[in-house]
Amino acid sequence: MTINLAETAKEKGIKYFLISYTDLFGTQRAKLVPASAIGPMQESGAGFAGFASWLDMTPADPDIFGKPDPASLIQLPWKPEVGWLAADIWMNDEPVAASPRNALKEQIAKAAGQGLQMKTGVECEFFLILPDGSAISDPADTQSKPCYDQQALMRRYDVITEICDAMLELGWQPYQNDHEDANGQFEMNWEYDDALVTADRQAFFKFMVKSIAEKHGLRATFMPKPFPTLTGNGCHMHVSLWKGKDNAFVDAGSPSGLSATGLSFIGGLLHSADGIAAISNPTVNSYKRINAPDTLSGATWSPSSVTWTGNNRTHMIRVPEGDRFEFRLADGAANPYLLPAAVLAAGLDGMAHSRDPGPQLHINMYTHGHTVADAKKLPLNLLDALRSLEASETMMSAMAGVLPAYLKLKYAEWNDYSRHLTQWERDATLDC
Ligand SMILES: [Mg+2]
Repeated sequence: MTINLAETAKEKGIKYFLISYTDLFGTQRAKLVPASAIGPMQESGAGFAGFASWLDMTPADPDIFGKPDPASLIQLPWKPEVGWLAADIWMNDEPVAASPRNALKEQIAKAAGQGLQMKTGVECEFFLILPDGSAISDPADTQSKPCYDQQALMRRYDVITEICDAMLELGWQPYQNDHEDANGQFEMNWEYDDALVTADRQAFFKFMVKSIAEKHGLRATFMPKPFPTLTGNGCHMHVSLWKGKDNAFVDAGSPSGLSATGLSFIGGLLHSADGIAAISNPTVNSYKRINAPDTLSGATWSPSSVTWTGNNRTHMIRVPEGDRFEFRLADGAANPYLLPAAVLAAGLDGMAHSRDPGPQLHINMYTHGHTVADAKKLPLNLLDALRSLEASETMMSAMAGVLPAYLKLKYAEWNDYSRHLTQWERDATLDC
């Protein structure tokens, strides 16, 4: 059944539509379209100059069109006269492979070809900070172990509950909100769903949290490591794979609770993790969160090695129960579409090649990681991660439509960063 957006606008009192796409760096771009013009635009899409956002295009390229997916429609809870629509990028009447939402749909289609469907849930941590970005917004939030701090949580009750009320209204089934492990940091959880639904919701969640924070005179940031001594913003992703109504990861009879499918999916993720880091941890700043020294709270909550385990939060992959695993590598800068696309691509490769994840490790990796000599280490910086991704035949062939463009733009970003002279360099080198 096709949803007619012009009719929907009349029924729901929508005056404007935001036709929105997420570019390769995760930035959301949009056109605000009056409901009177949505009829033809639902078919043709809204026009954009592709090179003006983080897509690998030039001014000589034809216009791109953001074709809205009517199933993604969300009325802004804080401004219901506006309807948000996730759009797919098209050019010359073809979907653009080098765009995030199309890249995810491509992997979803591959899985569907095997009768499989990935479901995901994400834990998007964020800080509420001052509008100028210089510090957290609550000067009284100073505990050295601030996780679950009731007092600090309730000082932000108005913001957190406005966001949670919005998720309730949208039917996302939110079920808990807390103060996280860093001063000024929060996490809000809603139910898992199909990978594309979760990806659209994650994109919208970031937009919503920032918008509602601004309404309250604050600023929200998902930056991986905004403050050097505090725990960073993770984006832990819970993953399961389904065949119809059956969870393909479950085998209650196996020691880990995981089926052969689940094990090889995890094996695939372990096999490609160092390359995936360039997608799950996509910024220069991301590498200040992983491989980090302990924070004031005593733990970084992020991995530094490519290992997996049972219910133990010091490894890259945690299997809390046999029905899913938690991928703990990703951070708040991860692209909501490219992240699940990469996880699914690596998992399908693992299944195709029956990749063995090896035995689970049950040690505390923060204190005893040095005793595991053969564990692959995660990249130490973005350049290492980009090189690992480029060297990964598995990932480059599984995501051939998008990764060359992604790598090109990310290498350029690294080069831009490396041209900056830092104060640390001056302090360390002036007297050389
Ligand atoms: Mg968390």
